[in-house]
Amino acid sequence: MPEDEKPEGGDPLRSAGRRLSRSRRVDAEMLWREGFSSEDLQTGARWRDKGGRAKVAVEKLPDVAGEGIAGIVISVNRRTATVELCDGNVVEASYSPRLRLTRESLVATGDAATVHPAPGSGWLLTGIGPRRTRLSRPGPDARDHLDIVVAANLDVLVIVAAATHPHFHPRFVDRFLIAAELGGIEPLLYLNKCDLLEPGEEIDLSAYRDLGVSVVCGSVKRGDGLEELRQRLSGRIAALAGHSGVGKTSLLNVLAPEACEDVGAVREKDGRGRHTTIRARLYRTAGGGRLIDTPGIRELAMHRLEPNQVQLYFPEIERLFGTCRFNDCRHQTEPGCTVRAAAESGEIRPERYASYLRILEGLREG
Ligand code: GDP
Ligand code: ZN
Repeated sequence: MPEDEKPEGGDPLRSAGRRLSRSRRVDAEMLWREGFSSEDLQTGARWRDKGGRAKVAVEKLPDVAGEGIAGIVISVNRRTATVELCDGNVVEASYSPRLRLTRESLVATGDAATVHPAPGSGWLLTGIGPRRTRLSRPGPDARDHLDIVVAANLDVLVIVAAATHPHFHPRFVDRFLIAAELGGIEPLLYLNKCDLLEPGEEIDLSAYRDLGVSVVCGSVKRGDGLEELRQRLSGRIAALAGHSGVGKTSLLNVLAPEACEDVGAVREKDGRGRHTTIRARLYRTAGGGRLIDTPGIRELAMHRLEPNQVQLYFPEIERLFGTCRFNDCRHQTEPGCTVRAAAESGEIRPERYASYLRILEGLREG
């Protein structure tokens, strides 16, 4: 495709890439195919070809070898990542060979990315910064113990549940709480559809409040609780998680009005016959915040969690550590279990204990 037909053709950063001399382009292309990283480019890459001849690349590549441009990954597709650059430009960057050699999961929405102008035209995603936090699910091959990172660098995981329609499922809330804890992300529970509750009816969420989880009750339909949510998400990177039908899409649309337009843009791309798997997208919210929409988030299971680790995420159970008759007690049917006794006496909330047992069961199924 001629370069001027491409949408980003007028981008000043890209024309910098086009200004590379012909010979430099060839060398850069070879270099990328060899799987060298941006660090190699900067430090002076040397390697031997099949004939044993040493090659030095970096002196010939000052333009490509630069620092690159910093950005944030806003969506991950099969062959490219959409990256918003620090100057606000949005580019499609192909994975550099070095990145492609490793797992696809290497790149996640929310990752701090470095891009370089690709040899010839377009952009290459050349580097990924360290992750502050991660939201992950087990990879397709459970045996290799490699997780797929669904979203990186989240500050807050908004766990959306419905007061009713669908029925409130503590089990889902607990699973997402654990996923957040595992990834180092602060959880926030938004109980939606409170407009549907009968007068006087309420969902008891004190177990979560007791655990220090922020809880906001509201209704997207009536507009309740949204201001509080906006404030809590201001300036932070958040994602929505929750069972289908609880109102995530509705919430996304009110928190990030640009979401509607963006969905259209994605379809347009698909219409051209390009197969793009949109794994997640990142939207702007009030106060400089970001919101990640992750379709795959419901699959967040916890195969990787060892059964004896589950209690670490139930502080009220963990507190009784060492008081059961058996040191390795899983608090199921073991004799002399103080946790089960505490659940029976009400000292531990029975619904939380039930949730603990279900998660433990879930691990076995996985
Ligand atoms: P998602 O599957 O989690 O994305 O849920 P949706 O946003 O698609 O919402 C599912 C249904 O619940 C839709 O019909 C929404 O109109 C409805 N809904 C969302 N929020 C509320 C709310 O606060 N109150 C009521 N009554 N309905 C809601
Ligand atoms: Zn026990």
